[in-house]
Amino acid sequence: MTVDVDVLVIGGGNAALCAALMAREAGASVLLLEAAPREWRGGNSAHTRNLRCMHDAPQDVLTEAYSEEEFWQDLLKVTGGQTDEALARLTIRASSNCRDWMRRHGVHFQPSLSGTLHLSRTNAFFMGGGKALVNAYYRSAEQLGVQIRYSAPVDRLELKDGHFVAAYIGDERITAKTCVLAAGGFESNREWLREAWGQNERGEWPSDNFAIRGTRFNRGVLLKELMQAGADMIGDPTQAHMVAIDARAPLYDGGICTRIDCVSLGVVVNREGRRFYDEGEDFWPKRYAIWGRLVAQQPGQVGYSIIDAKAAGRFMPPVFPGTRADTLPDLAQKLGLDVPTFMQTLNDYNAACRVGTFDHTVLDDCHTEDLLPAKTHWARPVDKGPFYGYALKPGVTFTYLGLKTDETTAVRFGGVSSDNLFVAGEMMAGNVLGKGYTAGVGMSIGTAFGRIAGVQSAQAAMKSGVHHAAA
Ligand SMILES: Cc1cc2nc3c(=O)[nH]c(=O)nc-3n(C[C@H](O)[C@H](O)[C@H](O)COP(=O)(O)OP(=O)(O)OC[C@H]3O[C@@H](n4cnc5c(N)ncnc54)[C@H](O)[C@@H]3O)c2cc1C
Repeated sequence: MTVDVDVLVIGGGNAALCAALMAREAGASVLLLEAAPREWRGGNSAHTRNLRCMHDAPQDVLTEAYSEEEFWQDLLKVTGGQTDEALARLTIRASSNCRDWMRRHGVHFQPSLSGTLHLSRTNAFFMGGGKALVNAYYRSAEQLGVQIRYSAPVDRLELKDGHFVAAYIGDERITAKTCVLAAGGFESNREWLREAWGQNERGEWPSDNFAIRGTRFNRGVLLKELMQAGADMIGDPTQAHMVAIDARAPLYDGGICTRIDCVSLGVVVNREGRRFYDEGEDFWPKRYAIWGRLVAQQPGQVGYSIIDAKAAGRFMPPVFPGTRADTLPDLAQKLGLDVPTFMQTLNDYNAACRVGTFDHTVLDDCHTEDLLPAKTHWARPVDKGPFYGYALKPGVTFTYLGLKTDETTAVRFGGVSSDNLFVAGEMMAGNVLGKGYTAGVGMSIGTAFGRIAGVQSAQAAMKSGVHHAAA
């Protein structure tokens, strides 16, 4: 069977939906192929909570102002300069005027959630989270006549000299005048993660112990295809956004509620009962994304976040309660840690604490002395029961390897832009975000480039001859 439309959109998350909606609004017939079944639709976008927005003055749910320059400086800092300034600024500017369009398609916003990452100035939160956002977009797309197919994983593309010809789902061939690739990263491809992370000096394959925080359907099939077809790539396959999450989290789709946010309030030890990094290095929102990688480097890819009664109520509560004990040796035993080593670590830490004025909202003066590794802020003895421990493992949010593109979102082959193949979302986010992360920018990138890809693909389809009326 051959299906033929103007614009084929491959993927079913935020970037794909933005592209499909814009292409349809521009008058093209659109078919969207989502690998997941309907009940799991929406990719990682369904797990999101907010988008980072530039604004010059307070706006409905956004407080104060967040200028283009400040947003740009934030991006520059977190990426260490691994960003394309023109594309970054395009994203930033687009974030200032996309929300009216989003509202028209049924997305609602709410003020930032309190007690988490203090984002009321910079980030607009989705009412009902990312799940409500993708549901609204799917509803709007259906109403506009976008054809949607679920359980439709594209496994192969037919290209001719950088020109898109057809996509395949098994033996089924789907042709279209133009195509938008918006199929996410490759974080759910365990073989590829293994290849990227390799084997460590202990003979372990660290990635075997990673959980994937989002969808199981982002397997990077098309990224690999495009790589092999000679498309220009950007980013490093070993770079991924990784967070320390509850070791009890499921292998896929644990989402936001499996994050353990009490690291900076206590100490973290490894399987051998030893500390391995400064838990108080910087504010948690700036530092939470390094802990996935730190835990990945420990034996067995496991860590244990240990707190005492003083930390209770000061962090976003995880979905499962921690292991609780009235004494530290009991806690060590319950966690399966060697009690003497654990107690040595805790006693050394407690003795090294120099407590000044504890204040979790500033880089306070509570620190350790003559201890390696040091804890440079918020260091208070862990000495008031009951005590709690959370086993941690690395949770991959998304990978950074992607397709190189420009402000038209065209896929490039040897520096030459394809005339009918476009890319949006995580598949190209590495152009803006070479490494690091600042909360909410994933959705800003996907929305900006998804919308452009929709317009570009529709225009290219209209230019190329016979226009297929929408079904
Ligand atoms: C737990 C969690 C929380 C997050 N919170 C935020 C947040 O609050 N704010 C923020 O900005 N970012 C957040 N992110 C990152 C954010 O999810 C991504 O940046 C964004 O969703 C990327 O959108 P996308 O459309 O490119 O990819 P996705 O939403 O992942 O969509 C990819 C889609 O492609 C489909 N697909 C994959 N392969 C194929 C194939 N071969 N054929 C057909 N379809 C295919 C998948 O099924 C999926 O529908 C979070 C991520 C996670 C995991």
